Amino acid sequence: MTGPYLAGVDIGGTKITVSLANFKGISVKVFQEVRLEGSHTAIPEQVDFLLEYACEQIGVQPDDIMATGVSSCGPFVKEDGIIQLAAPNLCGGLAKDRNIISNNWTRIPLEAVLSGRWSTLKIENDAVAAVKAERLFGACRGEDNVVYVTWSTGIGGGAYVDGRLIHGKNGNAPHIGHIYLVEDGPQCGCGNFGDMESLVSGVAIARDYGGGRTAEDVFRAFRSGEGKANEIISRALRNFARGLASINAILDTEVFVIGGSVFMNNIDILLPGIEEEFYRSFPILSADVDIRPSLLGAYLGDMAALSLVMPEDWIKKWQDNRPWTHAPLPVILDKQGFN
Ligand SMILES: [Zn+2]
Repeated sequence: MTGPYLAGVDIGGTKITVSLANFKGISVKVFQEVRLEGSHTAIPEQVDFLLEYACEQIGVQPDDIMATGVSSCGPFVKEDGIIQLAAPNLCGGLAKDRNIISNNWTRIPLEAVLSGRWSTLKIENDAVAAVKAERLFGACRGEDNVVYVTWSTGIGGGAYVDGRLIHGKNGNAPHIGHIYLVEDGPQCGCGNFGDMESLVSGVAIARDYGGGRTAEDVFRAFRSGEGKANEIISRALRNFARGLASINAILDTEVFVIGGSVFMNNIDILLPGIEEEFYRSFPILSADVDIRPSLLGAYLGDMAALSLVMPEDWIKKWQDNRPWTHAPLPVILDKQGFN
C-alpha cells in the first residue's frame, strides 16, 4: 500500500462511481447503478458500501482514507448547515414522473449518514465540482472567471468569479438549467415551463423528435441531412447559446467550458452553432468570451470528485503526469446484490 489515499464519489441519476487515489494516481474504481428503492438513506448507505468495497480491493483500511470528495447531482438543501439531496432524478417524492422513480423520498440525508464514517468529507454539486476539476487539470487552468456548463440528460453549471468558486446559500449556484428562456415552453422535470433544461437537454431533444428516439438518434438523423432533426437541433443550440449569453450577462465571464455527453459526442455540430449565436448577443459583453470543450471529458466525473479534496502538494504532480488517463477500468457491481 502506498498511502495516504483520497476517495472520490460521483453520484448521478443512474449510477454511482467511487475511486480511490494516492499521489501517483487512481488505484481502483467501482461502479454500480444507483439504488432508488428502500429507505431514504439507501443512497448514502450504497456509497458507504462502495467505499468499503473499493478499500478492500486494494487492501486499504477505511481509516486510512484521509479525505472524501463527493460530487453529486442536485439541487441541495441544507438543514442546520447539513447537506441533503433534493434531486428530482433521485427523489420520487419530488419527481414529475412517478413511474420512473418508485420511491417517495423528498430528501436524502447524504452528509449526515456519510460524515460519521468518512473523515474530511466535502460535498459539492456535480457541475460545481466539475468547474473545479477543469480549472485545476482541464480546459481553463488558472482562469479566474470561468463557467462550466454540462449539456447532457440535463443542464448544469458551476462557476468561478474573480477566482472564487461560487456556491450560494445551499451550494446550488449557478443552477443554469432552470433559468427561464421562453414563455409557454415545455415543462421541465423541476416543474418550470420554458426553462433552459426543458428546451435543450438530451431529454428535450428526444421528446421534440418523438417516436421513442434518443437524443443520439436525432443527431444521427441530423448528420444524414434530415430536415426535422435539423430544425430540432438548430433550435436547441440557439436556446443553449442564449442561456450562455444570459449567464454571461450576470457573471461577465472569460471562459465557458462545455461538457456533458450531448455536447461531447457532437462537438463538431454544436460548437460552431453555439458560437455563431452567442457572439450575436450584445457584443460588448460577448466578444471577449472564449467557448471551449471540456478537456477532461470521460474522466471528468472522477476528477471532479477527487479535485474537491486533493492536497496542494499533489496538484502539480497530477498536472504534469495526468495520471487519470491511465486509471484502471472500473469494477462493475451488479445492481441487486452487493457484488
Ligand atoms: Zn427546470
